[in-house]
Amino acid sequence: MRGIEELPVPAAVRMPVGRADKPSPIASLPEEAPLAAGQVLCTPEGDVPVVSPISGILEGTVVMQNSLYGSLLCADIQPEGERTDLLPVIPEDELTASVILDIAREAAVYDELDGSPLWQKLQRWQLPENDPAAKTCILVADATENDVYGSSAWAVLMEQPRLALFGLQMAARALRFSRYHIATMLPKRRRRTLKRAIGRENVYTVGDEYPVTVYADGDTEVYRIGIQACLALGRALKQGLRHTAAIVTVAGDGVPAARNMRVPFGTDLRALLSACQAESHVLPILGDAMTGVACDDLQTPILPGVTTVLAMKPRPIRVPKPCIGCGRCAAVCHAGLLPYEIVRRAENMHYERLQHLSPGDCDGCAVCSYVCPAGRDVAAEVLKAGETKGTMFLNWGEDDNE
Ligand code: SF4
Ligand code: SF4
Repeated sequence: MRGIEELPVPAAVRMPVGRADKPSPIASLPEEAPLAAGQVLCTPEGDVPVVSPISGILEGTVVMQNSLYGSLLCADIQPEGERTDLLPVIPEDELTASVILDIAREAAVYDELDGSPLWQKLQRWQLPENDPAAKTCILVADATENDVYGSSAWAVLMEQPRLALFGLQMAARALRFSRYHIATMLPKRRRRTLKRAIGRENVYTVGDEYPVTVYADGDTEVYRIGIQACLALGRALKQGLRHTAAIVTVAGDGVPAARNMRVPFGTDLRALLSACQAESHVLPILGDAMTGVACDDLQTPILPGVTTVLAMKPRPIRVPKPCIGCGRCAAVCHAGLLPYEIVRRAENMHYERLQHLSPGDCDGCAVCSYVCPAGRDVAAEVLKAGETKGTMFLNWGEDDNE
């Protein structure tokens, strides 16, 4: 299994600090100010602080027009020195629920599952004291991978399992949950090693049913946070370190080998791809193969929530062929639909018979398009059919009567 490599120090990082149309929130910091890694640059009201991801010199602010994030005001930081700004470390027996929440906020810990601040989630899910639900709620550290390319969660878990478990335990304490575990799909041998390191009761091996929000018993509510967030919280509580970097898998046919890299937030895609010896003209996809976002702007910064970058070589455009009736689209549809039949009826304008096939239940996950050997964009057709709500002819009739 791949370990975690340090990204060579990038030429600069550009850390978003606010919106381009607002006054700079870091105007009080003088230009060329020396910054320590983890030093607070600004604290937006009601939000987590924005911290410097590296030790460096503040060159000023720049406005970045980005195809993914829009217009951003960024702190331009050139690397220099090895300074680190630390939070005070509080003894474990003094870590109450509210202290843990405060530290999760001050340390700017983000949940990689959706890129949102961890403390906001914990605050939202927190139970009142002595709530009986504490026994039926469970906090899960998600260390599974979204698809076959990713291995960043596994790498985190194998590198620092005890610290990640400690972060999970403290997050559960903040929520006042008595149950928690790390969910993983690790191969058997790795799982044994992990169980020896952190105790088998803390490891849950997931199968095809994952992710779930309610256990089969119907009572257990499941709350999920990422394993990187657990590790970041553990590091903040035990070592006083703020969250300044993402662990990112770089994979795809445009790099010689898949790697897991520790990437300071604000590092741009160009620096990451170049460190991984990506071929020129690759198309980076942020996220996994199914739900990732294609992003050809190489200045795009790596921000919380990015755990996989796929560097894909350009491909010839596939010309869709007629449906061969293989049924793969139906076999993979998690909504239990018959995509090929929905498309057939829509193409033949049998709108009145579409409603029996419930195209409105389609959420556009696009798995059917992904597996279609004929290269058809089945999902787009099903979504379009869903918009008719099976009543296109009736609507026309009503319109005529008006
Ligand atoms: S896009 Fe719609 S039809 Fe296709 S697999 Fe997903 S839910 Fe099913
Ligand atoms: S997967 Fe494609 S070819 Fe196969 S039945 Fe569905 S639409 Fe037709």
